[in-house]
Amino acid sequence: MSIWNPWHGCHKISPGCAHCYVYRRDESIGKDASVVAKTAEYDLPLKKYRQGEYKLRPEDGTVFTCMTSDFFLEDADDWRPGCWDMIRERTDLHFHIITKRIDRFEQCVPPDWGDGWDHVTVCSTCENQDRTDCRLPILLSLPIRHREVIAEPMLGEIDMAKYLATGLIEHVTCGGESGPDARPCDFRWIQEVRRECIRCGVPFTFKQTGAVFIKDGKTYRVDRKDQIPQARKSGYSYRPGAGSAEAIRYRLPERGELFARLSRSAFRSRFHLSEKDRAYLAEKGMETVRRHAEELIASRLAAENPENDGKQTPMKGHPVFIAQHATACCCRSCLEKWHHIPAGKTLTEAEQAYIADVLMEWIEKERNRQETVP
Ligand code: SF4
Ligand SMILES: [Zn+2]
Repeated sequence: MSIWNPWHGCHKISPGCAHCYVYRRDESIGKDASVVAKTAEYDLPLKKYRQGEYKLRPEDGTVFTCMTSDFFLEDADDWRPGCWDMIRERTDLHFHIITKRIDRFEQCVPPDWGDGWDHVTVCSTCENQDRTDCRLPILLSLPIRHREVIAEPMLGEIDMAKYLATGLIEHVTCGGESGPDARPCDFRWIQEVRRECIRCGVPFTFKQTGAVFIKDGKTYRVDRKDQIPQARKSGYSYRPGAGSAEAIRYRLPERGELFARLSRSAFRSRFHLSEKDRAYLAEKGMETVRRHAEELIASRLAAENPENDGKQTPMKGHPVFIAQHATACCCRSCLEKWHHIPAGKTLTEAEQAYIADVLMEWIEKERNRQETVP
């Protein structure tokens, strides 16, 4: 990767800007980050070594553009056309522009932008639900060939399912906030966006934990040097079909504790076998029903990204379906939330057997419960 910062300095416009790293870094050297100025490397894409070779080479990867400012900042309106000229010329490079000002995009593109340039990716940040609902509809409506989203610092739960479902977003990145005043980032928020990405087949990157990271209700302070490695090590980045989630380490819940939690859930505990289900059990026998459970798990849950995930388990029609809803084995989201089995991985035989055990335990309990009812 290469970095091209044609100007430096910016203005805070969004909750995500509160602890902007440009401001933090500038403050530490006594500089005022609100002063916007062209840099000495303004024309870096055209700069050459004495031998005539470009300084920015395609083999060095994506050119991250304007990382110490915002490419669509008003202050840079006079300088941006020159940047477009250089970008137009360097079709051998790929430029990646991250912005909090996607609303200014249309007035900032060159006249020959057409339906977008193939060597430019535009990435909109969205740190909370409000900014997501404001910026993503704009991002999706614009003529852009490659769109990405970055939720960093992630400041709250974000539902971006409907935007991902358009199939127009190529990549999502999430991460916490670093620095001394960092706001907390809850791993549940990260997991939720990741699950939405998996459902839509969108690659997902969990970039960094941030300095204050909440996992399973516990708050951790993470050292600067560990924030990126820990996110990487967690295995929670996702590439469709790459088996990237296989490395995720997790622990299955203790069975007694699981059933106790399920019984405390108003939604889960309302599921019971009907007369018809019980008659079916009596007719087929537990062994056959277990075989059905195994087949349903294999065909509807086991794939890395099961078809129709979230809606693949009917509410009636087979005792196993009822058991799935009652025990939160109905879809990959519920399996992750209740049983900690990561979404985005093909279920191993052991995981499938575990799910079948849970379902049969519930069916057995339910059978006994029904039998004791006069
Ligand atoms: S838009 Fe980006 S660079 Fe500008 S103040 Fe906000 S966080 Fe900093
Ligand atoms: Zn479910």
